[in-house]
Amino acid sequence: MKRVLITGAAGFLGSHLCDKFIHNGYAVVGMDNLLTGSTENIEHLFPQKEFEFYYHDVSKFVHVSGHLDYILHFASPASPIDYLKMPIQTLKVGSLGTHNLLGLAKEKKARMLIASTSEVYGDPNVHPQPEEYWGNVNSVGPRGVYDEAKRFQEAITMAYHNFHGLETRIVRIFNTYGPKMRLDDGRVLPAFMGQALRGEDLTIFGDGSQTRSFCYVDDLVEGIYRLLLSDYHLPMNIGNPSEISIRDFAEEIIKLTGTNQKVIYHPLPQDDPKQRCPDITKAKAILNWEPKIDRSTGLKLTYEYFKKKIENEKQGK
Ligand code: UDP
Repeated sequence: MKRVLITGAAGFLGSHLCDKFIHNGYAVVGMDNLLTGSTENIEHLFPQKEFEFYYHDVSKFVHVSGHLDYILHFASPASPIDYLKMPIQTLKVGSLGTHNLLGLAKEKKARMLIASTSEVYGDPNVHPQPEEYWGNVNSVGPRGVYDEAKRFQEAITMAYHNFHGLETRIVRIFNTYGPKMRLDDGRVLPAFMGQALRGEDLTIFGDGSQTRSFCYVDDLVEGIYRLLLSDYHLPMNIGNPSEISIRDFAEEIIKLTGTNQKVIYHPLPQDDPKQRCPDITKAKAILNWEPKIDRSTGLKLTYEYFKKKIENEKQGK
């Protein structure tokens, strides 16, 4: 049986990946220090003998006994609010954590996949963003702690590939949404849905003309799975190229939730990217992958999840 280590296992993406690998017949070792993740996301896996959970911070030396075929490094605070609150942990998990896991991968002769991000493109001057674009990043701005940790992560991963011959994969993840996102992580989708459900006005930062391209989590997970099993070691964008302004996105959420709330405008945070959209030519050609779930379907599924979550909150569950 193939055995995979998934760090950040209790987080949004990590927990979906645990489900995917268990479903596909792998043994899964989940690892998390629960800084931003929650065991609630994976507790349904605890009774399964193919699933183990290690409570551990990967910025410290990582030990896993037994063989490992794959390591997927998904541990990191990942929303702008989270990494502003936890700048040092964000830098450490992307740098020291990645180094520890690369060492483990080398020791186990495992293939390592790292979760990189569209943030490596910063506030992009090229649109949509192909993998060849080097980015426009402010290393000392508020997003620098995340962006530079991820850029370092890509660099050290390539170094292990080139110098040690380690098998590596680099996925650049664009905005992703779906069930198991944290309602209070400050990202735009949980913020808008939480506000609509609680009867608060929706907070648009800036004038709302900035764009994002949102990918449903199941599509992303399928893309990552295909990339891991492919033989492509250079960075690959995985995301949904359907682009929308934040103002129009707020309108979609208002319509979907049927709320009577209005939008209110707050100042735009520093270095907030003006536009973001993945060029997925490579993923299409190499992985035969493209997103299948359109925004209206994905948003409905996500809304059902948040509605239940807030009802449970109200009942004190
Ligand atoms: N945003 C917003 N209102 C919110 C939260 C976020 O208008 O309550 C904006 C944010 O300024 C950014 C976009 O929505 O332009 C996406 O923000 P998010 O934090 O989800 O992720 P980012 O793509 O910026 O990393």
